[in-house]
Amino acid sequence: MKRILLALVALVAGLGGVMTLRAARLEPPALPSGAALPPMPSIDSAGALERLAGAIRHPTISYASGAPIDTAAFRGFHEHLVTSFPQAHATLTRESIGTLSLLYTWKGADPAAAPIVLMGHMDVVPVPESNLPQWTHTPFSGDIADGYVWGRGTLDDKSTVLSIMEAVETLIRSGYVPPRTIYLTFGHDEEVGGRYGARAIVDTLVARGVKPALVIDEGGFMASGLLPGLTQRLAIVGIAEKGYISLKLTSRADGGHSSMPPGRTSVGALARAIAALEAAPFPMALDGPTRGMLEAMGPYLPFSQKLAMANLWLMGPLVQRTLASNPLGGALMRTTTSPTMLTAGIKDNVLPPEATGVVNFRIRPGETAETVMARVRTVINDTMITVAPLDSAIANPSPVSSTTGPAWTLLRRTITTMVPGEQPPVIPYLVMGGTDAKYWGPHSDAVYRFLPIPLGDGDRERVHGLNERVSARDYASAVTFFIRLLQGAGTL
Ligand SMILES: [Zn+2]
Repeated sequence: MKRILLALVALVAGLGGVMTLRAARLEPPALPSGAALPPMPSIDSAGALERLAGAIRHPTISYASGAPIDTAAFRGFHEHLVTSFPQAHATLTRESIGTLSLLYTWKGADPAAAPIVLMGHMDVVPVPESNLPQWTHTPFSGDIADGYVWGRGTLDDKSTVLSIMEAVETLIRSGYVPPRTIYLTFGHDEEVGGRYGARAIVDTLVARGVKPALVIDEGGFMASGLLPGLTQRLAIVGIAEKGYISLKLTSRADGGHSSMPPGRTSVGALARAIAALEAAPFPMALDGPTRGMLEAMGPYLPFSQKLAMANLWLMGPLVQRTLASNPLGGALMRTTTSPTMLTAGIKDNVLPPEATGVVNFRIRPGETAETVMARVRTVINDTMITVAPLDSAIANPSPVSSTTGPAWTLLRRTITTMVPGEQPPVIPYLVMGGTDAKYWGPHSDAVYRFLPIPLGDGDRERVHGLNERVSARDYASAVTFFIRLLQGAGTL
C-alpha cells in the first residue's frame, strides 16, 4: 500500500514537473532576422487623408433587404480612384468584374512567380434613418476634423481599398517594381455575401490559372482587449472562417377554430423543435484554428494560464469548460445554433395550419452544411416538421491557412512595422463572420484576414455602428502596412 502511495506521489510530482517545464519553455516565436528593410518612401499623408475622405462621400451602400443599389455612387467611387491615383492607373491594368467590382493587375518582374492578392471592398452597410441625429458628422460627409476622417467606410472597408491604392501609388513613384504579380481586388457586395463581386473575381483569376502565394483581406484586428487574459494590444489574424447556413423549419397541422385544438398544433410542434435544438447544442472541439489560437496566446499569459495552454493534452477539458462559459468561447469551439425568425398565425382564435421558424448556424471547421442539416433532422425527429435550407448564402467552413511558412512570416513581420516601437503578439484565430476571402479558400493555403488599422478604445463598435472614423495616425499605419508588405514580396 505504502509503495503504491509513494509511486502515486512520484507520478504526480513528475507530471507537475513536466507541465511546469513545458510552460517555462513557452516563448513568443522569434521573427527570422531576414534582410534589412528597404528605405520607406515618403507618404503624402495630408493628400492621403483627402483621398480617403473623397471616397467616403460616395454612398456605395449594399442593402441586406435586396433593395437596388445606387450604381452611380459606385461609378463615382471608381472615377475617384482614377483621378486620385494617376500613376497606379498608368501602370496597372483595370477590369470591371461582376459589373461593379474591380480587378487590378500589376505585372511582376517574374511572371511565373506565384502572385499576391490584396482584397478590399467598396460597399458599406446602410445607416438607419433613426440613427442620423447621433452622428457628429453625417455618415457620408467625409469630414476631416479633430485628427480624424469621419464617415461610413472609414474603418470598414474603404480605408483598406484606399490605403492599398496609396501604397501602390507611393511605391510606383519611388521606382519600385514588384518581383511577382500583384492583384488588387475590390468587391462591391461584400456586406451582402460577395456572391457577385468577390466570387466572380476569384472565378476569373482561377480560370486564368492563378494560384496565390498570399491573399490578404479584412477580418482580424489590431486592438487591445480582444482575447480573455491578454490586456496588451494584439493583432489577431483570421486563418479560417466559419461556414454559414440558415434552415427553415416548417410545421404543418390541421388548422381550425381554437376552441377545439387537436393533440398537436403547428405552433406547439415548431416550438418543441426549436427548444430541442437549443437543448442539444453541437459538440465542442478544442482543435484546428482555436487550438492554434490558444497555443499562440500561451507565451503572453500569466503563469497559471500559461501552464494550461502549454499542456492542453492534459488540461484541454478544463480549458474547454472555461471557454464555453461565455458566448465568444463557445462560438470558437462549436457550430452555433441561433433561432432568428418565427412566423405563424393571423388571428388569436384561429389555429394556423402552418408555422415557420428560421435557425441560423455558423459552422465550425470539420463540419459541413450537409452534416449540420442531417444532425438538425435527427435532433428534431418529428414528422410534422420539414427542414430546408433558406434561400440565402450557404457556405462551408473555409480551409485553415498555414501558420508556418514564408507568407505567414511576411505577414507577421509586416504587422510589427505598423506602429513604430510596438511589437504586438500576432495570434491566429477563427473568424466568426464571413469575408470575401472565403472564395479563395479552396485555391490557396495562405489566405489571411486582417484589417491593418490599429484600433483604439470604442473603435470596434464604430464598425457598422455610429460615428465611424479613422485617425490620421492609424490610417498612416495602414498605408505603411501595405508598403512594407509589398516591399517584402520577394521573400515569398
Ligand atoms: Zn467589411
